[in-house]
Amino acid sequence: MTATDLIPCVVFDVDGTLAEFDEEKLGHLVHGVEKHWDEFHLAMANAPLIIPVAKLLRRLKESGETIIICSGRPKGWAEHTITWLRKYDLPFDGIYLRPADQDEASDPEVKRHALAEMRADGLKPWIVIDDRSSVVEAWRAEGIVCLQCASGDF
Ligand SMILES: [Mg+2]
Repeated sequence: MTATDLIPCVVFDVDGTLAEFDEEKLGHLVHGVEKHWDEFHLAMANAPLIIPVAKLLRRLKESGETIIICSGRPKGWAEHTITWLRKYDLPFDGIYLRPADQDEASDPEVKRHALAEMRADGLKPWIVIDDRSSVVEAWRAEGIVCLQCASGDF
């Protein structure tokens, strides 16, 4: 595959980007080495939509962009995330989540791994929307323009 065969896409994070995420209340469930995914997904099932970012996603999709969702949530819980995205009518063309064997990986590591997977699948992200500073730095270190939609200093 040559560079010209790659499909340009826009990547959106979920928690803190599309879904309101209270780091003070829920961060301890998912930001330590040991994760509590059941409690986290239960809490996030009713997370309100971050409306301006959702509007941007829909506008980009309407204009013909390929939309990719990329989250540090585990693949094993994909249905929960897809259900939430559908509830708010957020269109997407692909979804990349945390592999089953990477529960202890940091969020930046998970996103770097997802980027490698995207590239292997023929995708070429040209812009990413994410909130967490360490993850934003990881995207930028990969040479990708990342728009940080919130302070994300945790
Ligand atoms: Mg996030």
